[in-house]
Amino acid sequence: MTARILLVEDEDSIADPLAFLLEREGYRVRIARDGRAALEEFAKDTFDLVLLDLMLPFVPGTEVCREIRQTSQVPIIMLTAKDTEIDIVVGLELGADDYITKPYSSRELLARVRAMLRRSDTPRPESVEAEPLDDSVIEGHGIALDTERHEVHVRGERTQMPLREFELLSLLMRNQGRVLTRGQLIDRVWGSDYFGDTKTLDVHIKRIRARIEENPKQPQIVHTVRGVGYRFG
Ligand code: CA
Repeated sequence: MTARILLVEDEDSIADPLAFLLEREGYRVRIARDGRAALEEFAKDTFDLVLLDLMLPFVPGTEVCREIRQTSQVPIIMLTAKDTEIDIVVGLELGADDYITKPYSSRELLARVRAMLRRSDTPRPESVEAEPLDDSVIEGHGIALDTERHEVHVRGERTQMPLREFELLSLLMRNQGRVLTRGQLIDRVWGSDYFGDTKTLDVHIKRIRARIEENPKQPQIVHTVRGVGYRFG
């Protein structure tokens, strides 16, 4: 299951590359650019981790942390600008689980995120696919997707496929013979609030090809339509 991260950071020059970095690691990232937005996002969705900047407009990070802690044990990593801010985080016993001082290295941040997510093994309800389907099995070009059982068969052989790739492939297969634009695919699979590089899409397509194509270097099933997007069949 893809971990969902709420990134609370008001500076675009920090938030955007950080979101990209985390997405590239396979996390789902939602960005809130001030304290109020952070609490709103947190109230309406489920997150596995919160990365929380200390200095924020409207509601400061310290207050966001306190409010979240009233209802949730979600792991919180504070992003602090300087050493003196660490004293605030620690001294006030905000209930944050960890802190990182800016500037941090990507490697350090990812290591902390991974460690934090490993530690928090709180069970949570599985998300339910709301999309009703008349026929749960989609087939074409030797590929069969069972969307109810979440199974993929490639030329008769069962294959493992991570959720995001599965969603992407099923979207392409439901539109066999039709070109789907990069924008459509990203919107539907990653959500319209997706931040980050569209290369993520290409990487997923590449992985799908590696699983389903006989020769991934010369794809015969998932076609690239240059300058537009991708087509199944
Ligand atoms: Ca800030």
